[in-house]
Amino acid sequence: MSFSDLGLRAELLRAIEAQGYQSPTPIQRQAIPLVLEGRDLLASAQTGTGKTAGFTLPLLQRLSGGQRPRARQVRALVLTPTRELAAQVGESVREYGRHLSLTSHVIFGGVGQQPQIDAVRPGLDILVATPGRLLDLHQQRHIDLSRVEILVLDEADRMLDMGFIHDIRRVLKLLPEKRQNLLFSATFSNEIQRLAEGLLDNPAKVEV
Ligand code: AMP
Repeated sequence: MSFSDLGLRAELLRAIEAQGYQSPTPIQRQAIPLVLEGRDLLASAQTGTGKTAGFTLPLLQRLSGGQRPRARQVRALVLTPTRELAAQVGESVREYGRHLSLTSHVIFGGVGQQPQIDAVRPGLDILVATPGRLLDLHQQRHIDLSRVEILVLDEADRMLDMGFIHDIRRVLKLLPEKRQNLLFSATFSNEIQRLAEGLLDNPAKVEV
């Protein structure tokens, strides 16, 4: 099977080719068509499986047909536990989306806020963020989450291990009810199951 069999548009196939990927990994084969259909997803996948491209490619495709975002508005939100992972996901979004005219930014704590505030002000399609800094900037009204169409929780188990459950629940309250939700986790504790049950609508389950 090749990437072109998965229903991805030519601009994304060109970016994939530039990365040198020959064929989709198992998680990509399973996840990409489901996300393109608009399904909610519960995915069990470790780092190194190609999970980032598994959600980033179809997310870019789903946003690529839509309207331009307005001031401060975010259309897809990816939450990650750490700044390193946020930066990595942000880099993937930029690489895979290089032939699409979508904007993305990464925000995380531990660095100055002002460059991040300036970056999100004009509005953006994709925001990759750690939960604490996201809530800080939202509270200061620099970010509008009321138009989010797609939410991704990446490494959800690590986010819970790091004590982010309350922050995640606060973020969920800021999102519109109708949206697509993708939850990626390496492990499935009772706490993750509870989070998934409250978050996901008839999710497709993917395991690798
Ligand atoms: P991830 O599991 O998302 O952290 O990805 C692990 C690594 O696999 C990253 O360095 C990706 O660039 C690489 N990768 C992702 N998809 C593919 C693919 N289809 N073929 C080869 N390498 C890939």
